Amino acid sequence: MDLPASSRYIVVGAGIHGLSTAMHLARELKQRGLGDGSDVVVLEKSQPGAGASGIACGVVRNNYFQPAMSELMQACVEVWESDPAAYHYNPVGYVALGPKVQESDLTAVFERHERIGYRSELIVGEAEVADHMRALFPDWRAKGVTVCLHEHQGGFAFNQESVDGLLGKCEAEGVRVLSGVEVTGFRSAQDASVAAVETSAGEIEVGEQVVIAPGPWAQRFWTLLGLPSAIDVRTPSGEVHESVPMWTYWNLQEGEITVDPLMFATADGGAPPVIHLDTDAPLYTDEGVLLTDELWGIYYKRDRHGVQGGASPLTVDGDVELDPYPSTTNVDPSFPDMWCAALSHAMSRFEGCRPLYKTARSGGVGSFTADNFPVFDYMRPNVYCILDSNHGYKMIGVGREVAKVLLGEHSSLLYPFRFERFATGDLHPVSHSPYPWS
Ligand SMILES: Cc1cc2nc3c(=O)[nH]c(=O)nc-3n(C[C@H](O)[C@H](O)[C@H](O)COP(=O)(O)OP(=O)(O)OC[C@H]3O[C@@H](n4cnc5c(N)ncnc54)[C@H](O)[C@@H]3O)c2cc1C
Repeated sequence: MDLPASSRYIVVGAGIHGLSTAMHLARELKQRGLGDGSDVVVLEKSQPGAGASGIACGVVRNNYFQPAMSELMQACVEVWESDPAAYHYNPVGYVALGPKVQESDLTAVFERHERIGYRSELIVGEAEVADHMRALFPDWRAKGVTVCLHEHQGGFAFNQESVDGLLGKCEAEGVRVLSGVEVTGFRSAQDASVAAVETSAGEIEVGEQVVIAPGPWAQRFWTLLGLPSAIDVRTPSGEVHESVPMWTYWNLQEGEITVDPLMFATADGGAPPVIHLDTDAPLYTDEGVLLTDELWGIYYKRDRHGVQGGASPLTVDGDVELDPYPSTTNVDPSFPDMWCAALSHAMSRFEGCRPLYKTARSGGVGSFTADNFPVFDYMRPNVYCILDSNHGYKMIGVGREVAKVLLGEHSSLLYPFRFERFATGDLHPVSHSPYPWS
């Protein structure tokens, strides 16, 4: 398909956010009698799902300590639940387990779930948590766990398949999704808005607005838009941290074991919820070698060919060669030992699973903002940026909100994620989780 000379709306990036925005925008335009999908073009340098959305573990959960994240996630789960078949969404639920230090956080999360009507259950106390987990999995044996948040909504979706589902919906609305078109720059108008998008296939004039949804390539676009690589960050107490790097890369460590997926089932043979376990109990290999006696955590889910999941990510120093994606740098060579030992620590069915570890296309680099939360905002008068700080496969509903904002509405769900928060100190609260995304 040729690059059109102009388009009213140009979306850059065909991942979960770009495609969700394009689809919802097409629908909103039609519903309001303002146009339709033919007013929207998506530019993708590789192919849909080539970025983080195509390799994401696919976990959909609402275990967020930050009120704004939790409320936004509820709206996103609504979108997943609206068409599970097209999105290849498995509503199996999600279980977060933690040690004493996380009790207050998970209790606060649960109380908010109750307030917003998100279906979850809280279990507190070591024996109570063990009972709850053993009713689900009789071989549950994790130690040091005193709190459990069991979300009865959420679960996971199959990454590339859900991107394909969104793509189909975009095309059905008449949106043109152009693969193999790389955005290389922006031609500015005098008022700092973007007049044209420069691409490997020529220039395309901007009729109205541009949406940028670049996933791990966020920093590249930040630079193209002439935005600062370091910013001052005001904390809620009024203290100012000067010259904080706007972007940091983290390497997400993930892997899988090849087993019969059905060996990971609940006691009644049902599909298991996604499990996220944090504990401070010492972690040993099956051979009895101590791996760590500090707080550690893993997550895992049943996958098509086995059990897949990950552990805490690692920060990456400096810049990263992102192409071809997924580039993985600085992966801890001990990750497979740790992850397999942790599976075995959790459930005896995984004892001896280390030889079944498979080096697969799993794991990759993510771009994180100065406070590790998304920036959803206009960064030029007609350029809306969806920079999700790697939170965002689960955030399929962000595009629905962005579509409304593009058409002039206010979104109270997106407002807490404006860039201005770094200057005003209106930051999100921080939890006790060892992960940068909780
Ligand atoms: C290993 C891993 C596991 C993860 N697991 C989860 C999870 O379980 N749950 C969860 O919610 N989130 C998860 N995430 C985070 C999630 O995947 C991302 O936050 C989300 O997919 C980002 O979506 P996106 O649409 O912004 O970006 P992407 O999916 O990365 O899409 C961006 C697109 O832009 C294209 N592009 C880049 N530069 C250009 C250019 N110059 N011109 C044109 N196109 C361009 C890319 O090719 C890409 O297709 C995980 C991330 C990683 C790396």
